[in-house]
Amino acid sequence: MFNKSNDSEKTPWYGDGISFSCTQCGNCCTGPSGYVWFDEDEAQAMADHLGMDVRSFHQRYARRAMGRWTLEEEKNGRDYDCVFLKEDGDGKRTCSIYPVRPTQCRTWPFWSSNMKNRRGWEMSAKTCPGMREPEARGENFVPVEQVRVIMAGNPEHL
Ligand code: SF4
Repeated sequence: MFNKSNDSEKTPWYGDGISFSCTQCGNCCTGPSGYVWFDEDEAQAMADHLGMDVRSFHQRYARRAMGRWTLEEEKNGRDYDCVFLKEDGDGKRTCSIYPVRPTQCRTWPFWSSNMKNRRGWEMSAKTCPGMREPEARGENFVPVEQVRVIMAGNPEHL
């Protein structure tokens, strides 16, 4: 997971920073059935954003799984879309509640499963073009300090 530097400090493989820029392809919001966990504060924020009470939000947009709340999905051919994934006319697939999306979504792709080593990152980059295209362009650089802050904001994926 870590490379050792000369002064014995542990430096992650992304110690020089890493590039990422979402292309709004929507791939991370669809695919096999899965879970988008959220807590009470996030439920309230989403409900407020949609102009409804939390109880109605849960009934309409969420389901229980493993004793927790997760966002509802909608079957789309062989895939399961997040209930908040929307397609724009220009081919973009974006989040319709983007400003209040749960932490799990907000911290993608800086999850421990992607950050533990370069191979983990490259595996996810196969379906997330935002993780590979900017690097080739040498832009949208995220310094390691910022990566750490993002990861710290999502303890579930640390
Ligand atoms: S898969 Fe990657 S590029 Fe596509 S919408 Fe998700 S974060 Fe953005």
